Amino acid sequence: MQRIPAVCVVGSLNMDLTITTKKMPKQGETVIGEGFETYPGGKGANQAVAAARVGAKVTMIGAVGTDTFGNSLLENLSQEGINVEGISKISDVATGVASIIMSDHDNRIIVASGANAYVTPTLIDQHREHIYNSDIVLVQLETPIDAIVRTMEIANEYDIPVIVNPAPFRELPEAILTGSTFLTPNEIELVAMKRQSFSDSIREKIILTKGAEGVQFFEKGKSKVVKSHKVKVADTTGAGDTFNGALAAQLGSGVLLADAVNYANAAAALSVTKLGAQSGMPTDEEVKQFLK
Ligand code: ATP
Repeated sequence: MQRIPAVCVVGSLNMDLTITTKKMPKQGETVIGEGFETYPGGKGANQAVAAARVGAKVTMIGAVGTDTFGNSLLENLSQEGINVEGISKISDVATGVASIIMSDHDNRIIVASGANAYVTPTLIDQHREHIYNSDIVLVQLETPIDAIVRTMEIANEYDIPVIVNPAPFRELPEAILTGSTFLTPNEIELVAMKRQSFSDSIREKIILTKGAEGVQFFEKGKSKVVKSHKVKVADTTGAGDTFNGALAAQLGSGVLLADAVNYANAAAALSVTKLGAQSGMPTDEEVKQFLK
């Protein structure tokens, strides 16, 4: 990294409530599962942690409830060295949760957005100094779209680059297509994006993550591919979040796009070798060691 980047992540925070079971319950059926764990999650928080682990100075803008889950999510981010002043505590609203049932061959996930739905343009305006004091802004689509558009307007006003990770996919308003500096879909999200028509100038903003196939991006109008690293896969959860957080940290520090992609590709490869989303995210030292 050329200098320590200030990264502002605007996005979701969820507590993942995970039950593992040998048998998936059928409609109306109750089964006794194996184990239960809670993990801090949400794409916003995951990407903030990924950027912090590789050495960025990270501030997050988002919302939690005033319940115990909210407190532990804030505590978790603080422990990662992330500035949580931009995360509002909303009273009488539950913190976002993801209820996850995991069995060997099937996962079922249902998300209750809770406080994440309270990330409004007004909330963004309240925390706007975190946006214009950053080197780069990173957003996903788990918070309301009008707040993302507002984030982008502020960033654009101050000429701060914005990475949009269009996940989970929803139709992208023109303001997001034009206001973003980079778009980082995976292959499924790219297919969905292509249902909308966009110009060559938008196409060239795309940094496409292709799982075990690596990453495709544009450099001076030419398409380039970086192959993924061959690693022993333990758990691919959070690979995309690691990629995005590491990419933001690198681009925010001023390195060239190809070098940033190369670094993020390595960070994401390392993350799949370990279990869990946030727990598998590597440090800057680990990425550098891996790339030697
Ligand atoms: P997820 O939803 O699982 O977090 P995603 O679908 O958003 O991920 P992917 O395109 O699957 O994103 O993966 C992101 C990046 O992670 C890839 O571009 C690559 O750099 C790395 N990666 C993912 N899977 C592997 C793998 N099996 N081996 C090496 N690198 C991988």
